[in-house]
Amino acid sequence: MGEIRATAIVLAAGQGKRMQSNVHKQYLLIKDKPVLYYSLKAFEESVIDDIILVVGEGEEDFCQKEILHKYGFHKIRAIECGGKERYHSVACGIRTINWKCDYLFIHDGARPFVDDAMIKRAYDEVKRSRACVVGMPVKDTIKIADEKGYVAGTPDRSRIWQIQTPQVFERQLITAAYEKLLTEEKKLLADGVVVTDDAMVVEYFMNTPVKLVQGSYENIKITTPEDLKIAETFI
Ligand code: C5P
Repeated sequence: MGEIRATAIVLAAGQGKRMQSNVHKQYLLIKDKPVLYYSLKAFEESVIDDIILVVGEGEEDFCQKEILHKYGFHKIRAIECGGKERYHSVACGIRTINWKCDYLFIHDGARPFVDDAMIKRAYDEVKRSRACVVGMPVKDTIKIADEKGYVAGTPDRSRIWQIQTPQVFERQLITAAYEKLLTEEKKLLADGVVVTDDAMVVEYFMNTPVKLVQGSYENIKITTPEDLKIAETFI
């Protein structure tokens, strides 16, 4: 069996349309460094063994020079081109692995405040549960809306979590789940299912419960301009 090894797929192939900027959100600067730098640094300095960086089409050379070489990330073993939807980019990362990998961490490059303690908590949990995601209990009351914009219900807040990344899985489990997703993609689209995270793929296709692990309220995803201002205060 040998030593247990983990790979992180760091996703940076999104267009960042909600940012209203020509620069993709993962390359915007927080205190002079790109958002993506902080996400990669957390994994580079963690117990994770290998990193795959998934970027937009034609951005491979830019990332090689301006991120990998510039900041000296040694654990990045591959820079791959992503796909149209987030799940295509994840599938592309999974396909790339041709080295020993027992556990797979999937992380949004646009979440620069993932930290070492969180990575360790998730690693410990995935060894017990096979599948886990980091998140935090919501602070606000959540309402379900109906089609006309009226309140249709108020779920019990103590059971509602907002989900973050990393999302961590046994490699075989997540590989099998994504294979099924790609095979059934057309049917899912026809049914109106929108795949927004990786746990969802496991929930949908595999008979394996996904454990919730504590993330942090600072582990925000840089999505809209105000997130950058908040991020500046966290550094
Ligand atoms: O679009 P969203 O905010 O959910 O993106 C979350 C993460 O997934 C971001 O880091 C983004 O760069 C990445 N992504 C990707 N490929 C896509 C869409 C999003 O790698 N097609």
